[in-house]
Amino acid sequence: MHNHSRFSDGLLSPTQLMELAARNGVDAIALTDHDTTEGLDEAAGAAKATGIALVPGVEISVDWGETTLHVVGLNVDPTHAPLAEGLRRIREGRLGRGERIAQALEKLGFTGTLEGALALAENKEMLSRAHFARHLAETGRVKDTQAAFDKYLTKGKPAYVSHRWATLEEAVSWIRGSGGIAVMAHPGRYGLKPMFRDEMLAQFKGFGGEAIEVVTGSHRPEEYAAWQRVAGEFGFLASRGADYHGPGESPIEPGKLPALHASLTPVWSKWAH
Ligand code: AMP
Ligand code: MN
Ligand code: MN
Ligand code: MN
Repeated sequence: MHNHSRFSDGLLSPTQLMELAARNGVDAIALTDHDTTEGLDEAAGAAKATGIALVPGVEISVDWGETTLHVVGLNVDPTHAPLAEGLRRIREGRLGRGERIAQALEKLGFTGTLEGALALAENKEMLSRAHFARHLAETGRVKDTQAAFDKYLTKGKPAYVSHRWATLEEAVSWIRGSGGIAVMAHPGRYGLKPMFRDEMLAQFKGFGGEAIEVVTGSHRPEEYAAWQRVAGEFGFLASRGADYHGPGESPIEPGKLPALHASLTPVWSKWAH
């Protein structure tokens, strides 16, 4: 229930993603590109051709204080005007942010990174830090994309540039307004201390958020049990998704994650009858 394509920062086309899922025996899959639903049409066609059920989705970038959160919307209607317009608005500043990232990298002696990153981005308005990381790795300036994030691109590092995304309330309301279910993506990735984590999840629930990811490629397996407990405490449905970005970058392919614990109610119980 969480995968990326070339329409955001994934490496595969939606068709290639559906074909990979089919090879892995997946029977239902969500495409959840960052801040865009542009890949859903192609994905729907390819899913049909391979006999997989496509769950139309999106992963929305959100500011929560100083923290960037990701909220996944599942079963969204991409034609719902507030969702489409809201996503367009948060995509708008990405190119300007990219220019500022490139300027910061230039100060570190790395020239030409804007052009390099843009050349890797199929969808120019979805220019992502992931494209900068890939460009730095491909040009041998870091050993791999992870090192690019760890040394330069994550918060607190010299080429990190902050950006204004959606509010938590907006993201949840756009998703719900379009008929979808709002899922807090990889809650273990935000580094929030328990008090802030609980505050964040309580707000999310208050706005209408219904689920959290428990089993995800973005959690370490030893974290699953803790998020399973949190889901139970808050009464959230549970989601499971590879957060797949492509070969060589995401070790866990769609269809390769362990099952959710039997005590959890899967988010797909809302629509898979
Ligand atoms: P952006 O939305 O352009 O800020 O890029 C965020 C994307 O970069 C995430 O969706 C991940 O794919 C990737 N990313 C962010 N932080 C890291 C990290 N610490 N290590 C590896 N990839 C990361
Ligand atoms: Mn990503
Ligand atoms: Mn994410
Ligand atoms: Mn993701």
